[in-house]
Amino acid sequence: MSTLRVILLDQISESITSLRGINKADDIVMMCECIEDFTYIPHHPKKIAFQLSAIRHFRDKLLSDGYRVEYTELSDKNLSDEILRITNDLKVNRIIITEPSEYRVQEKIINLTKLLDIEFEILADDRFLCTKEQFAKWAKDKKQLRMEFFYREMRKKYKILLEKNGSPVGGSWNYDKENREVFKEKIKSPRRISHKKDQTTISILEFVSKKFNENFGKFEPFHFAVTREQALMEAKQFMQDILPNFGKHQDVMVSGEAYLFHSLLSTYLNIGLLLPLELCQMAENEYHKGKAPLNSVEGFIRQILGWREYIRGIYWTFMPKYLEMNFLGATRSLPDSFWGKPTKMFCIEEVVNHTKEHAYSHHIQRLMITGNFALLTGINPVEVHKWYLAVYADAYEWVEVPNTMGMALFSDGGIVASKPYAASGKYINRMSDFCKKCKYDPEKLIGDDACPFNALYWNFFIQHKEQLKSNRRLAYVFSTLNRFDEEKKDAITEEAKNILNKINLNVI
Ligand SMILES: Cc1cc2nc3c(=O)[nH]c(=O)nc-3n(C[C@H](O)[C@H](O)[C@H](O)COP(=O)(O)OP(=O)(O)OC[C@H]3O[C@@H](n4cnc5c(N)ncnc54)[C@H](O)[C@@H]3O)c2cc1C
Ligand code: SF4
Repeated sequence: MSTLRVILLDQISESITSLRGINKADDIVMMCECIEDFTYIPHHPKKIAFQLSAIRHFRDKLLSDGYRVEYTELSDKNLSDEILRITNDLKVNRIIITEPSEYRVQEKIINLTKLLDIEFEILADDRFLCTKEQFAKWAKDKKQLRMEFFYREMRKKYKILLEKNGSPVGGSWNYDKENREVFKEKIKSPRRISHKKDQTTISILEFVSKKFNENFGKFEPFHFAVTREQALMEAKQFMQDILPNFGKHQDVMVSGEAYLFHSLLSTYLNIGLLLPLELCQMAENEYHKGKAPLNSVEGFIRQILGWREYIRGIYWTFMPKYLEMNFLGATRSLPDSFWGKPTKMFCIEEVVNHTKEHAYSHHIQRLMITGNFALLTGINPVEVHKWYLAVYADAYEWVEVPNTMGMALFSDGGIVASKPYAASGKYINRMSDFCKKCKYDPEKLIGDDACPFNALYWNFFIQHKEQLKSNRRLAYVFSTLNRFDEEKKDAITEEAKNILNKINLNVI
């Protein structure tokens, strides 16, 4: 009789709770490349290749460390059937699993526990730094769940960037105001590590190029780390060479430069190759060694210790109803330009190209270009969510959904964001060099060459005035809008109507 320890696709960490206390001689570690994980959404081929390569390398590592591993390669098998089969075949009398990160997988596991008449333990996932219970306790009775206050609690809990007396290092909890530099000149992304592909990765790429050749996205060139050692190399390179400039250039967008000074570590964090606390501590160390400035270090730590944990807390607090929220009543379909069809809007084309090439685009591009466009044009939140979940290598529902539906689309009515992240062409022009290459003019509101974001922006606030006018953070927007005469408002509405028609016809 033995214990079956189930490892899910995004649980490839040797320190995962389900492997603790394992008896290598008797216990069985089970991993399954389940068909539904790779097909329930048309994932970017790079994401599929990365996941398959990373989990197979993890299997090989466990085997070489002497674990008994039952591994199911990609076929039409599903997780529940495989657990049942192995339990019967290998006379398993106990199953241990670390809690799934996604609601859809959790449902499956809970159903399975009802089918099996043996001990089934679901352990907490302590790779996350705030448990679901701790988040629920923090959220209880709060009128608003603002990330900033949650983040301060997390800094105190983990004693990160804290003085001995408990006050924040440097006197402030947040240095975001130093991280809002606008576009000044074309900057180049620092050189990144490109890992040599071994035979496992090469054969996976061959397989993916055939099996998933209809999915959006290029599978080559493939530079991803696929082992913990390789991911750690990237983390160290980021800390030493890139972190010092992370804060300063965080919000800037540059044509032809997908990465700039971002870490690119979310893909490794979310699958388990890297751990959030170790990254926060590495960054903090750079500050104490005098190698990276506080605005960069605090900014980076805030994204991980603050935003990432907060987003997970929101997901588990509001699922499954979060997926049904549509505060702004958005119903339009996703335009073909999101799948790479030509568009005259340079910013959309550029971000979609980055996405297609790298299965990556940085936060401001996700939020203020594609997200902003989807918000202003009223695209159905579930369609938008499915797009983000498909096209990014770091996308798992727990982190993607609150970012897309809450932060970018405001479909939760303000649980995540204190106001909609709506912006006009002027903002995009300030933060990027995109408009210089565009057929549209970011300064114009009306006309064939006017930037579509401008009329869409004002139209958005005209259309949603009743829902949004009491939001104090939008007081300035509505006081400006109130100064527009009826003629101007009508012209905006008409212009936006034309743009929306063209979007439906995919001719914008
Ligand atoms: C519409 C939309 C969808 C998104 N979907 C995802 C997703 O599927 N998966 C994902 O990991 N992130 C998602 N994000 C958050 C963020 O854009 C990515 O984490 C970030 O771009 C990843 O790149 P990076 O590793 O270079 O990040 P960096 O800019 O280097 O930031 C450092 C780390 O902080 C964390 N982080 C930063 N911002 C967030 C955030 N808002 N939420 C959670 N973690 C954050 C990430 O782990 C990231 O690796 C989304 C944001 C938006 C606006
Ligand atoms: S002018 Fe408008 S559409 Fe063109 S790149 Fe700038 S913001 Fe985008």
